[in-house]
Amino acid sequence: MKCPECTKADSDWTHDVYRMQCLQCCARLVAAAQPLHMETILQKIASYPGAPGRDAILECVLQVLTKTP
Ligand SMILES: [Zn+2]
Repeated sequence: MKCPECTKADSDWTHDVYRMQCLQCCARLVAAAQPLHMETILQKIASYPGAPGRDAILECVLQVLTKTP
């Protein structure tokens, strides 16, 4: 089940609202970041209560980056 922000992002790639409790949102956020800033963003996500684990996020980022349109 996708969260509302992920659903919006599907139809509008400029949509940049993220829910830190949503794995897909975290992955979108990390995937959109400059590689240099990924570590900072992963740490920021980890500071939110209820945020998914970093391993789960990275796995999802790979899926986001490798998915074919
Ligand atoms: Zn989401």
